Amino acid sequence: MDKTNQKRRNIIIVSNRLPFILEKTEDGNIEVGKGAGGLVTAMAAVLKSRDGTWIGWPGYVEESDIEGSMLPAIQSAASGYSVKPVMLNSYELKNYYEGFSNSILWPLFHNFTDKCIFLSEYWKSYKEVNEKFAVTVYQNADDLDFLWVHDYQLILVGSQLRKMHVGNKIGFFLHIPFPPMDTFARCPWRCELLSAMLEYDLLGFQTIQDKRNFIGCLKKIIQHAGIDEKIEYDQAVSEFQFGNRLVRIGVFPISIDYSEISFKAKDDKARKRVGEARRNNPDSKIVLGVDRLDYTKGIPEKLKAFGRFLTLFPKFHKKVQCIQVVVPSRKEIKAYAELRLKIEQLVGEINGKFGTGDWLPVQYMFRTLDNGELISLYRKSEIAFIASLKDGMNLVAKEYCACNIDEKGVLILSEFAGAAQQFYKDAIVVNPYDVDGTAMAIYRAFTMPLEERKSSMRNLRQNVKNKDVFWWLNSFFNGAFEKDLPVLPLVDEYFPCNFVRHPKAWKS
Ligand code: UDP
Repeated sequence: MDKTNQKRRNIIIVSNRLPFILEKTEDGNIEVGKGAGGLVTAMAAVLKSRDGTWIGWPGYVEESDIEGSMLPAIQSAASGYSVKPVMLNSYELKNYYEGFSNSILWPLFHNFTDKCIFLSEYWKSYKEVNEKFAVTVYQNADDLDFLWVHDYQLILVGSQLRKMHVGNKIGFFLHIPFPPMDTFARCPWRCELLSAMLEYDLLGFQTIQDKRNFIGCLKKIIQHAGIDEKIEYDQAVSEFQFGNRLVRIGVFPISIDYSEISFKAKDDKARKRVGEARRNNPDSKIVLGVDRLDYTKGIPEKLKAFGRFLTLFPKFHKKVQCIQVVVPSRKEIKAYAELRLKIEQLVGEINGKFGTGDWLPVQYMFRTLDNGELISLYRKSEIAFIASLKDGMNLVAKEYCACNIDEKGVLILSEFAGAAQQFYKDAIVVNPYDVDGTAMAIYRAFTMPLEERKSSMRNLRQNVKNKDVFWWLNSFFNGAFEKDLPVLPLVDEYFPCNFVRHPKAWKS
C-alpha cells in the first residue's frame, strides 16, 4: 500500500466500469464518451461533491493493453477526482464480464435461472479479474481510506483485499436484487460468493427483500457465519459478529440527483422541445418506456399489454402513442440479440395491426438518448410505463417523477422493480405477467382524474426529493461509520395492489 503521511479519509470507489467509455474511432484516435446506466448516473453525482479515486474498466479492449498512451485521455475525462483504469483483455471480457458476471450472476440474481451458463472457466476468470481490481486498490489506497466496492461483477474484491492484509473499512453495495435461497443455491460457487461477502464491513442492498434473501442464504449455506435467530429481518440496518469483526447489513435504495434533473426539466430548452412536439402531435398522448435492452426489463410484456389495451379500447386509437426507447446493451450475448429480434417483431405486429397512414401506435427507438432528449421525452409523456420482471431499483421511474414539473403525469410501475417498494402508494402498480391487468392499468392511467394524478405525482416527487442520491450516499456512510446502528426509515415491503384500492375508477 502507498503509505503516505496524508491522514485524510478519502474515498476509493471500485466499480466494473469507469464513468465513461473509451472508443477507438475509424481514424485510430481514442474518444471519450459518457457511460450509461444507473450506477454511472448515481455515482457521477456523488463524485461531484467529494474528492476521491475511481477504479474501474474504461470500456476499451486492446490485446496489447497500451495503458500508458491511454492514460491522458482517461484522466482528462475526469474532473476533480483521480481515475485508475483496470484494463481487460478480450479473454477476460469474454469470461469474467460476459461469462460469470452477465451469464451467471446477472440472470441468477434476477431469478432467470434458465439463462445461467455455469462454466468453471467463467469462475476462474472472475476470480482472476477480481484479484486484478484488488491489486489496483491495494496500490492506490492509504490506510484510512474508505473503500467502496460496487456491484455483482466485483463481489470477491473485499476478500482478495483481506488476503493482502488490508484492514481498511470496506463497503459493498449490490445494485441488483439478491435472490431467494432456492435460486441462489443453484450456483456451484455459492459458498465462495457468500463467504467473500462476509469480508466486507458493510453490505448494502436496494430493498428489505434483498436483505432478507441474503440473510436467509447465509443462515442455510454458511453454517459457521454465526448468524443467530436474533438478527433483525425487518430493520433497515442489522449487524452481527463474524469472527473478530462486526458485519453490518443495510437497505439503501439508490436514487438520482433530484435537484439537478428537475432543474434541467424546467429549463427553457426542455420546454421548447416539448412545445414543438406538442405542435406536431397535439392530440396524441404518450405512454413512454425507457429501458436498456435486457430480458429483465419486461419489454415484450409491456408491448403485449399495450397491444391488448388497443384491442380492448378502440376509442383510444389515434389518440395515444407508445414511445419505447431501447438502449443497446450486451450485444455480444446471444440472449440479448434474440430479445432484440423479439421486441422488433412485436413492434411490427402492433403497428401492422393497428397503424394507419397518419398514426403509428408504437414509436420504437433502438439507441442511447442524450440527457436533453431524455428529459424532454420525460416531460412530454403523460405516462411512464415500467414493466420490469425483476429490477434492482429502476432509476427511470425516479427520473420521470423528477421531470414531471406540472405534476400531471402517471407512473405505471411493475411490482417487481425495487422502486415499487417506495412508490406503491402513488404509482399504478402492475404485475407485468398479467397482460389483461396491465392493459387495464394503461386505461386507468389515461382516464385518471386530474386531481388524483396531481396528488399522486406530488407525493412521488416529494418521495424522490427526500430520498435523493445524496440521501443514499449519506445513509450508506452512516451505516459504515456510525457507532450505533443508524436508524433509517424503512420502506414498506408488502403493498396492496392498486387495482383493489381504486375500485370506483375501474367502473368508469
Ligand atoms: N439512460 C440514458 N440514455 C438513454 C436511456 C437511459 O442515459 O437513452 C439512463 C437513464 O437516465 C437512467 C439509466 O440510464 O439513469 C437507466 O437506469 P435504470 O436504473 O433504469 O436501469 P439500468 O439500465 O441501470 O438497469
